[in-house]
Amino acid sequence: MPAASAPARSTSIEWTHHTWNPFAGCSRVSEGCRNCYAERLAVRLAKMGQATYQGLTTDRGLWSGRVNRASPATFRKPLAIREPSLIFVNSMSDFWHPAASDRDRADALDIMTECRRHVFQILTKRPELVAPTLARMGIARVPDNVWLGATVEDGRVADRIPFVQRFPAAVTFLSIEPMVARFGRHDIAGIGWAITGGESGPRARDLLPDWVREVRDLAAAFAVPFFHKQWGRYANNPLCREDGLSAASAAKIDPHGKGGALLDFTLHRAFPAGFMPG
Ligand code: SF4
Repeated sequence: MPAASAPARSTSIEWTHHTWNPFAGCSRVSEGCRNCYAERLAVRLAKMGQATYQGLTTDRGLWSGRVNRASPATFRKPLAIREPSLIFVNSMSDFWHPAASDRDRADALDIMTECRRHVFQILTKRPELVAPTLARMGIARVPDNVWLGATVEDGRVADRIPFVQRFPAAVTFLSIEPMVARFGRHDIAGIGWAITGGESGPRARDLLPDWVREVRDLAAAFAVPFFHKQWGRYANNPLCREDGLSAASAAKIDPHGKGGALLDFTLHRAFPAGFMPG
């Protein structure tokens, strides 16, 4: 488990220290994908000549559905990170994407197994593919330093939750981000961690404070550690939306994340039970 001293970080994502993309490429699944940041970045990286990103997007800037394995150096990146760290896997893909090969997944899992000093966070919008993929690969359970989660951006895709509750992992988690509509009250028993966050960037959509309050209260009811990453933009922040402050005034009180992160003057930054990030 990561040590108490703060490891260096190479990403601004508050709930992790590094991102690692053993392969890249995806295709859209649901509303949470509408303004996919990875898709836009993949276009830029392809134009910059990065080999891994060639052919991943179409001329119209949309995912082509192809998945490419990263260079050997990138594939082995966790081995080069000496400090115990949280590592978010496949920010530029979906680990369980049908176009990714089981060979690449197996090789990536081998590195995660070798790097027990790190915690690897694997998120998907395709939780229904996890069990059949692991069964096909002959894996009954992922190592305890691999956390498995799913994005459930709103209540319309709440049918993903039961798959997460059955993930064969020591820690399971829900990422309600970018939260683009109300999540609602669902059974989240047994889930190890819940993250909320608003959308940022161009065409960012609204996030209502009450949607987040509802998840905060639901997490408390099920004793699930709760992490509110950000409001996405200050217009969503309750200091502006409900109390009428300007974005500049709110930013002085609440400088966390993008658009601040305080909810009713509290910063929610809990991690899975028993885990203390550096
Ligand atoms: S699953 Fe993630 S990476 Fe893939 S299209 Fe959706 S938002 Fe983008």
